[in-house]
Amino acid sequence: MNPFEYARPTTEAEAIDFLNDHGGQTAVLSGGTDLMNLLKRDVVQPQRVVDIKHVSSMNGIQRVDDGVLIGANVTLDQALAAHELVEYQSLLQVIDGHRSIQMQGMGTLVGDLCQMPSCWYFRNGYGLLALKDGASLVEQGDNRYHAIFGNSGPAKFVSASRFAPGFIAWEAKVRVIGPQPTQEEFVPLEYFFATPKTNTQGVTILKPGQLVTHVWLPIAKPTMKSAAYEVLESNGLDRPQAAASVCLNVQSDIVREARIVLGHVAPTPWIAHEAARALVGHKVTEDTVSHVADIAVSRATPLSMNDYKVQMTRAAVKRALLRAVDQLDPELV
Ligand SMILES: Cc1cc2nc3c(=O)[nH]c(=O)nc-3n(C[C@H](O)[C@H](O)[C@H](O)COP(=O)(O)OP(=O)(O)OC[C@H]3O[C@@H](n4cnc5c(N)ncnc54)[C@H](O)[C@@H]3O)c2cc1C
Repeated sequence: MNPFEYARPTTEAEAIDFLNDHGGQTAVLSGGTDLMNLLKRDVVQPQRVVDIKHVSSMNGIQRVDDGVLIGANVTLDQALAAHELVEYQSLLQVIDGHRSIQMQGMGTLVGDLCQMPSCWYFRNGYGLLALKDGASLVEQGDNRYHAIFGNSGPAKFVSASRFAPGFIAWEAKVRVIGPQPTQEEFVPLEYFFATPKTNTQGVTILKPGQLVTHVWLPIAKPTMKSAAYEVLESNGLDRPQAAASVCLNVQSDIVREARIVLGHVAPTPWIAHEAARALVGHKVTEDTVSHVADIAVSRATPLSMNDYKVQMTRAAVKRALLRAVDQLDPELV
């Protein structure tokens, strides 16, 4: 592991100060479940690691006038126990799907949003674009876990975040501060993720010296129904091969508004706009969800070894929609 300085700020202003030294060659440490692995393998080599766990303004979950604010230090199990989040079922279902007490106790929701891809070429030092001698290792090699959407450019990994699809379906925003001490912005999460075109670009819009302090969720109207469905290979700690999160406004059994967001299928969370539009004005039935799921995957462009993910994504959309209206066979959860 490369040597680095360790900084432990107690305020947001101090965190920004620490992050902006060393020309921004710094990294935010939250639960550390992902960052520590990257440091140990020298995949990232910051000159300073800034541990935000002692910044008290980033602790806890609180109701605010227009919704709920979740601090960057909130762990998965704190979120699971929080009464403020009971209406946001899709997010709780994803936490439950982690099936690892260690990960739930240490990992944070914001760390999940900001984590780097689990692409094996990236984790073995070939960069986000996985290039060797200018050629794409993903195109030529084992691409079974790679993208089936948004993969026409050089980036072919899949976004690793498990919570982003659910948060985006709920139209969440993230509070980003820095790099200037007074700079603060609420960014809709759907615009937070980025597809890099070079190995020096990241997977989010965060610039050096910036960090996320909170996630904001809008008030859940009583007519909103949400659910998630992740296709996992094993019953233990695992990363989904495909996932869908949905958020529906259902009145008198008819869907008035719909958001469908796919995970682990593209370099960013993938919003299925066309599929969501096809659901509006209809009841959620086996027939409508089959039709909507067909639309959701109709523009997939699988690589040489991951055609199977198209069917998994289709099933995830179908099951998330049925789960949202309590029509999914409990055996399938
Ligand atoms: C053994 C192991 C197995 C795992 N298995 C799975 C799995 O099966 N499924 C799965 O989904 N995940 C898995 N993970 C990943 C882990 O669950 C998530 O990455 C976790 O939620 C990250 O939270 P954290 O607080 O530990 O983040 P950290 O590791 O502290 O940070 C993750 C990344 O986000 C950045 N970051 C953190 N907080 C902020 C912030 N506030 N602002 C800006 N950037 C920030 C860090 O710099 C780092 O790049 C696994 C991790 C380990 C170690």
